[in-house]
This record gives sequence, structure tokens and C-alpha cells, in this order.
Amino acid sequence: MAITVKNPIVEMDGDEMTRIIWQMIKEKLLLPHLKMDLKYFDLGVKHRDETDDQVTIDAANAVIRFGVGVKCATITPNAARVKEYGLKQAWKSPNGTIRSVLDGTVFRKPITVQCIPPAVRSWKKPISIGRHAYGDIYRSVEFQVPGAGRAEMTFTPASGGDRVVLSIHDFKGPGVIMGMHNTEKSVRSFARACIAYALGEKCDLWFGAKDTISKTYHGFFKELFDQEVGERKADLDRAGVKYRYMLIDDAVAQIMKAEGGMLWACMNYDGDVMSDMVASGFGSLGLMTSVLVSPDGKYVYEAAHGTVMRHYYEHLKGNPTSTNSVASIFAWTGALARRAELDGTPEVAVFARKLEAAVLATIEAGVMTKDLAAIAEPRPGKHAQTEEFISAVAKRL
Ligand code: NAP
Ligand code: MG
Repeated sequence: MAITVKNPIVEMDGDEMTRIIWQMIKEKLLLPHLKMDLKYFDLGVKHRDETDDQVTIDAANAVIRFGVGVKCATITPNAARVKEYGLKQAWKSPNGTIRSVLDGTVFRKPITVQCIPPAVRSWKKPISIGRHAYGDIYRSVEFQVPGAGRAEMTFTPASGGDRVVLSIHDFKGPGVIMGMHNTEKSVRSFARACIAYALGEKCDLWFGAKDTISKTYHGFFKELFDQEVGERKADLDRAGVKYRYMLIDDAVAQIMKAEGGMLWACMNYDGDVMSDMVASGFGSLGLMTSVLVSPDGKYVYEAAHGTVMRHYYEHLKGNPTSTNSVASIFAWTGALARRAELDGTPEVAVFARKLEAAVLATIEAGVMTKDLAAIAEPRPGKHAQTEEFISAVAKRL
């Protein structure tokens, strides 16, 4: 008998190989067992183009309404993609759009499997990364300086006070400049989301920036973080959660010697880069999950990897593929578990846990995709193809 998921989940479909996996997961692992009300949005690049990207905004607003979303990986178009798909323009990153509608923070957490030892010997527990998902270079204004001239930064107060003009550089020849920003509101909600996550998971909270060099910009982040942590000190102490501020380069060095089990809060760019490093250190991009959390508690779950384009091209040629579907499956179980918590439906949470257990047990039984087979101990004799792995999980489930 199917288990009923009481309230809707916002489903965002995506592109290329992950779109193919998405369909298999639904068909083989979810729909046979669950009765769900899915609010479906097709974020495939063609449909984004047809709707002038309105579908992405509609999907984000649906998450605000229903509280829980699950997203397939999507193409962020560049010039090559515009040509490949005949797009009207290089639409913005859907993830960027959804993040800014929700003003959210992205947390990434690796899925640890017993037979896959981390590349870093000291890592024993998962390292979660909290990426500040607003501003900095992702909302910057860039300008290629054509030749000699003065670059300045100007601030004009809305209140009508004096303009502030700062000199950036007196160019003697061509160069480049960038203006970036962040807001107190966004940095505070980032800090709060990280504190909430650390309290929820009862894990230590690390934050790293470069306030020795960027005394004002990075210093601003450090100061607001310190303030927010100060306000929750009693709760953090009670939960045994320790907060550490480090220079970003020190944090990178420390993480390589640590046991793991902490939340590492990162500024936007650091989080983008370090989450990929941590993901591959724990095994494969296919084992990294991601969740976007808004300050008022709306959640979007997804895999941290992209659309796995190279595999898709092989698939189109009719060649077999071995694409890891684990992170996409865990995106669904994350959304289901969250829905269960909000709806008070423990049977849905139990199903999500069983599906996760079936995935891990399948891998531990030696059935895994090529990316994992290469690093598993002991090495399996052969690797499973994309669909073969999902079918093995379905059978175990
Ligand atoms: P990618 O999709 O993350 O894949 C890069 C490589 O990593 C693959 O070629 C594959 O290596 C390996 N890999 C990643 N996920 C895997 C999985 N599940 N199973 C097995 N191997 C996996 O990055 P990309 O190919 O550079 O980007 C493709 C598209 O994804 C781009 O258009 C980009 O805009 C988009 N993207 C979307 C998101 C998102 O929606 N969240 C995130 C990142 C990128 P091998 O080739 O060595 O097998
Ligand atoms: Mg990245």
C-alpha cells in the first residue's frame, strides 16, 4: 500500500544526465511506494528559455508557499550552451535565482559510506559546508579598463548627505576592475542559518575569512558573525557547540588535520570552491548533498554536482553510462524527511530512512557506479551502469 505524503513537494526538473536519472528515481524508487502531490516545474534549459526564465521564479515562489522543494541539476548557460540549445540569451544560474528569491544559505554535506575511505586520513566524520549564497563576486559589477584613467568608487547616500568617493587605482594602461557588495541583513541571516544548523546537528561551527587583509569587507562578516554567535552563546554552550573563527588559510590548513563533524561556514566564493574540494575528498561529487535553507525555514534539496554533461553525450550516442545517482536520491529523501517533520507523518520519514539505508547497503554489498568503484575498499570486480544501480536499490528497498 502506498504511503501518503500529506502536503505538496515542489519538484524542479533539470537537464542532461541528471534529468534522465531523475526520471528513473521517480519511476523505480518513489512512485511505486508513495502517493505524493508534486508541484512540477520544468527547469530544463529549453523550458526556461521558452518562459523567459519565469518558470524559475515561479518555482522559487512555490517553495515559499509549500515550504519544501527538491531540485534536479540544471544547466547554467554560457556562450557555448546558448549556441548548443539555440537560447534567446544566457539565462542566469537557476540556483542563483532561487537563492536570491529565498535569501537562503546552502549547506552541503557528504554522504559517508563505510567502504569508501576519505582521501584525507584524519577525516572520520562528514564535514558540512555552509555557503553564504548572496553577493560578493556572484553579484558583482565588472569592467574591463580599456586604457589609462582613474577608477573610483562612489557612494551617494539616499538621505542626501555628502557623496563618498574613493580612489581604486590610477591606471597607466589597460586593466580590469570589479565592484562587489553584501548587505548586513544577508550576512546576519547567513550567520543565523549557520548557528541554527550547528545547533540542529550539534556540531561545532567554524568560520573563516581574510579580515587581516580585507579589514572592512571581510572584517564586516567577522564582526556580524561574532555578534550573532554572542547572542546565542547560552544555547550554543548548552548544546556543547563550539564556535571558532580562523583566517581562511588557517581554516583550510586545520580542516586537513581535523576529524570532521563540523559545520564550516564559508563566504560565497570559498563555499563554492571548498565544497567541491570536500566533496571529492570524501569520495565523489556523486556523494555530496546540498540544501538551501531560508531564514524563515523553507528548504530546497538537491545534489551538489551538475548535469554530468560528458555522460549525457555518451548516453545520446547510445553508449552505456555509469552515473552516480546517490546524491539525487538523497535530495529526494531529504525533502521527504523534511516534509514528514513539517506534516507530522513519521511513516514518510521511515520510508526516507529505508531508502537511504537501501542505497548504502547496495554500495556496501559491492554494487556501485564507476566513480565509487575506483575508490572503494575492497574494489568491486566490476561497476554498475546507471540504471543497474538504481534497479539494485529498488530491489533491496
Ligand atoms: P558536473 O556535472 O558536476 O560533472 C563534472 C564531472 O564530475 C563529470 O564529467 C564526472 O566526471 C564527475 N561527476 C559529477 N557528478 C557525477 C555523478 N553523479 N556520477 C559520476 N560522475 C560525476 O559538472 P560539469 O560537467 O562541469 O557541468 C555540467 C553542467 O552542470 C553545466 O552546464 C553547469 O552549468 C551545470 N551545473 C549545475 C549545477 C546545479 O544545478 N546545481 C551545479 C554545477 C554545475 P567524469 O567525466 O570523469 O566521469
Ligand atoms: Mg563549485
